[in-house]
Amino acid sequence: MTTKTAIIGGGITGLSAAYYLQKAIMANDLDMEFKLFESSGRLGGKIQTEYRNGFVMERGPDSFLARKESASRLAKEVGIDKELVSNYAGQAYILKKTNLYPIPKGSVMGVPTKWMPFWKTPLLSFKGKVRALADLVIPKSSPAEDQSLGGFFRRRLGSEAVDYLIDPLLSGVYAGDIDKLSLQATYPQFFEAEQKYQSLMRGLKPPAPDKNEEPSKKKGAFLSFERGLYSLVEAIENHLEEEAVKKDTTLTRLSKTDRGMMLHFKDGSTEEVDNVIMATPPHVTSRLLQDPVIEKTLGSIPSTTVATISMTFEAGEVPEAFDGTGFVVSKKADYTITACTWTHRKWKHSAPAGKALIRCYVGKPGGEDIVEKTDEEILNAVRHDLEKIMQIQAEPSDFLVTRWRQSMPQYEIGHKQALAETRNRLQTAFPAVYAGGAAFEGVGLPDCILQGEKGAQFVLQHEKY
Ligand code: FAD
Repeated sequence: MTTKTAIIGGGITGLSAAYYLQKAIMANDLDMEFKLFESSGRLGGKIQTEYRNGFVMERGPDSFLARKESASRLAKEVGIDKELVSNYAGQAYILKKTNLYPIPKGSVMGVPTKWMPFWKTPLLSFKGKVRALADLVIPKSSPAEDQSLGGFFRRRLGSEAVDYLIDPLLSGVYAGDIDKLSLQATYPQFFEAEQKYQSLMRGLKPPAPDKNEEPSKKKGAFLSFERGLYSLVEAIENHLEEEAVKKDTTLTRLSKTDRGMMLHFKDGSTEEVDNVIMATPPHVTSRLLQDPVIEKTLGSIPSTTVATISMTFEAGEVPEAFDGTGFVVSKKADYTITACTWTHRKWKHSAPAGKALIRCYVGKPGGEDIVEKTDEEILNAVRHDLEKIMQIQAEPSDFLVTRWRQSMPQYEIGHKQALAETRNRLQTAFPAVYAGGAAFEGVGLPDCILQGEKGAQFVLQHEKY
């Protein structure tokens, strides 16, 4: 009997699972088939690129980390690696009170590794800098237990360095509260550096550059595509068998059968399969499985709500005073914006010549109300901030607001333990089900792609081909 697999969710995790599963089926002529079910009318999930008046606007993610190779590998597989583009790695800033300060050179995610730039930065007071230097002598933490990112860094570098350097940079990725996020689940490399070198400043110091190497061409650490991230989604979709992709199809429940799992759809229909790869957000996965243990472990992972707003201008309307790619905002500063990218500078492909594209984030833990305001109210609040910070007075010629409700899963203290319990429960109660995606082993696109690939492997191993 042909083995049937269902992939639930057509975001990058589900798409990657589908691509690699189809590849294995075709390469080995396996007696297997799969269907990918996506509730909306389009694939890509959080990857949403909008093309307007020559601008390439990303509503969600705008790029991925180049050093995590799964995304470029997948781009190559689907034939669009030639369209990959790197960001311009110009200066980034941190907003403190009303001023933008360059992130000191040599800081690794905010941790200083070069003395002079750190010593000279006006971001921290003299007292704050001296306190941060205590990192060189403070003993390492006990390896036994998970701890919060905030607690870890406050102990090593002091609260001032955390509030004005570390937190604005680190919490951006998770849109989270640094004092709740788990060190082990988010940035275990900091813990490892501390354990190995006893000091973060010593442990994170990059190796001296090779003298024979060409000087850096300001090529950034991130990648996108000439026409934006949606190119990847389109290219994967073009590689999938058309009949395998079921859009506008919402799952409402999964139940166990002797063969594997029964899929229950919103329109009342059902379908029985041998395996399921779940690539839906954690609260959806938990709701579909209707299991008390999974509800407690996966279903209780909180997710932050944020919104992005892209605004287009004439280049001359954006003051050139700051050369760089954007800024992040210290939570201690009284602004609505939490981060701002000067997109036309960071990504050449994003704006026509002579135009500027700026994207801001609003919404943070404990300050998510702004997201529910009207588009105009969000625009007004953001414009008010931009006028104060960057002296932009012009009205944007166009703007685009995207609300991301419950979209940023929070890896809080105990996250790893909760995931281990989820995996155990799946293995014992739902052995035909693999679950992955942003709430599991990394929120970044390359991590999601890897998890999709793992989902495909799970199915192949499960069937012992
Ligand atoms: P999703 O993209 O959420 O896909 C899940 C899919 O499941 C959706 O298509 C949904 O419609 C579908 N679905 C839900 N319920 C059902 C159901 N009942 N039945 C059928 N289908 C269902 N990462 C980066 O690497 N770089 C960035 O620059 C970056 N920026 C980001 C900016 C924002 C604003 C956000 C929100 C995230 C960002 N991320 C970034 C993170 C990254 O985008 C996500 O972690 C990743 O896209 C998640 O992919 P996924 O496939 O796991 O989930």
